[in-house]
Amino acid sequence: MVRLHNVMTAALLFVALPLLTEHAMPRLVRPHGYLNLDVGIALAVAALSLNLLLGYAGQISLGHAGLLAIGAFASGIVTSRWHGPMALGLVLAMVVSGGLAFLVGLPALRLRGLYLAIVTVVFGLVMQYSVLRSTVFSGGSAGVALPRRVWGGRVFTDNTVYLVVSLLLLLAVWVVDDNVVRSRVGRAFRVIRENEAVAQSFGIAVTRYKLLAFVVSGAMAGLAGAMYGHAIGFVNNESPFNFNLSLQLVIIVIIGGLGRRAAVVVAALVFWVLPSFISGLHAWAYIAGALGLMVTVSRHPDGIADLLRRERPPSFDDDAVEDDSLPALPDLPVPDRPGALTTPAGQPLLEVHEVSVSFGGLRAVDAVSLTVPAGRITGLIGPNGAGKSTLFNAISGLVTTTRGHVRYRGEQIQDLRADQRARLGIARSFQQVGLAKDLSVRENFLLAQHQVAGYGDLAAIAMTPTVARVERELAERADQAIESLGLVHLSGLPVRNLSGGQQRIVEIACLLVTAPELVMLDEPSAGMAPAAAESLAGRLRELRDTLGRTVLIIEHNVPLMLD
Ligand code: ADP
Ligand code: MG
Repeated sequence: MVRLHNVMTAALLFVALPLLTEHAMPRLVRPHGYLNLDVGIALAVAALSLNLLLGYAGQISLGHAGLLAIGAFASGIVTSRWHGPMALGLVLAMVVSGGLAFLVGLPALRLRGLYLAIVTVVFGLVMQYSVLRSTVFSGGSAGVALPRRVWGGRVFTDNTVYLVVSLLLLLAVWVVDDNVVRSRVGRAFRVIRENEAVAQSFGIAVTRYKLLAFVVSGAMAGLAGAMYGHAIGFVNNESPFNFNLSLQLVIIVIIGGLGRRAAVVVAALVFWVLPSFISGLHAWAYIAGALGLMVTVSRHPDGIADLLRRERPPSFDDDAVEDDSLPALPDLPVPDRPGALTTPAGQPLLEVHEVSVSFGGLRAVDAVSLTVPAGRITGLIGPNGAGKSTLFNAISGLVTTTRGHVRYRGEQIQDLRADQRARLGIARSFQQVGLAKDLSVRENFLLAQHQVAGYGDLAAIAMTPTVARVERELAERADQAIESLGLVHLSGLPVRNLSGGQQRIVEIACLLVTAPELVMLDEPSAGMAPAAAESLAGRLRELRDTLGRTVLIIEHNVPLMLD
């Protein structure tokens, strides 16, 4: 499914870019205008690939050139050695690079930041100095040809045709990128980038989505490499698949703006195409790039996308946030399709038995036992530092217990990951508001429905009609929830721009939008206006009485607790 503005972008690309060829502008454009454009478009695809990984999922790769290289050689081997069609070469390039990216992604499950950067640098260097130097694979300096083979002996050499093919491929990648962003896949990527614990508490399998980000990005990079190869017609071990290229891609994505698709494409085209048209600028490209990077990072941290955006979100300073702007909690939305209840009221739903948690030498939770009966509200009180939040983490699976066990619906759940426990219907709030704060209020409500979206990730990437329909339902429910909270005017704002109290209410509403069986609240009234805190008690009672849900609550507010 393709959206209107994508069609318009495509139209723009198809009209604007061919004007840059020597055919259209023989005077201005140097010979090889086509070649430069083709390479620029391949680079744009490569930049989109890195943008998906770095901009959305927050995983750095400084070895992306290695993935491009494998794609280029794979397509070369298919088209020149096996005499296969270019289409097959492109597909194989995506498969091989996607598979390789999966392997690069494995360390990312444990490493982040600088350490992950180093691992990916090493990957890029290994590709550059070992794999690409092996004559068996890359043909050494003789290299591998990449004929634009249609089928059998038919090869197309027409540059206009290849330019159109390149543009169509860029468009395809653009659409896939758009589908990712608009589905639960992209939301999962972006919450992982921000806070993995929050992602897990929404039932998102962090490992799976990190690897998916690597694989999709790798496939795009392989395609970009193959497009580059077919543009030049030949790759060898001197080809520019080196650390410089990896670095250029990172620069392009940062200058364009992390996670800003259109700006990243523009940055890639400008970065490559401009210097190659205006001779003399070429040598200055790196200096210009470096200056651009410095200006971007210091003045426009959101990239040039920041400059292109027409309106900035209003920023809320403290005096703009009035406590009486908080919605009354009784208006929290009641889910239209609450999940099934599994445990009869009064029976134990959650049993914690002699659970201990230690941080190094500090025993934060020491042999705690408690039972939470279904259909009741259970309170947990204790002084600061007593280990209440840590106990919540142990129940929801965010810390490992050193002793004891946790049963839910009569079954042991200690061995389950946090996201698996969330999918069993255990929802929790965090003492420090557990939302994706870079995402808007509306996107958080969509994110909160991750588990009920229930479509496959591949279907999401293709944006099948089912996915589109489910997304419309989720959006409807999100909008209803936002409306009943009276937060319509804040719907598009990043959550971090809301006041503490507003964030808290959005968090609780997000928890309730899927009606989990067990709701665990960690000091929910902290930061709320007294009136809102008062109405919280009523709302929790309603949750118990009308929906039969179970609540476990940590609270310092004694009147609320007694109520
Ligand atoms: P409460 O929620 O009851 O105020 P916490 O569970 O937050 O208490 O903390 C209990 C103890 O465990 C405190 O001494 C705190 O400093 C310590 N603690 C909590 N989380 C960690 C952690 N991730 N690493 C080390 N110590 C921690
Ligand atoms: Mg606490």
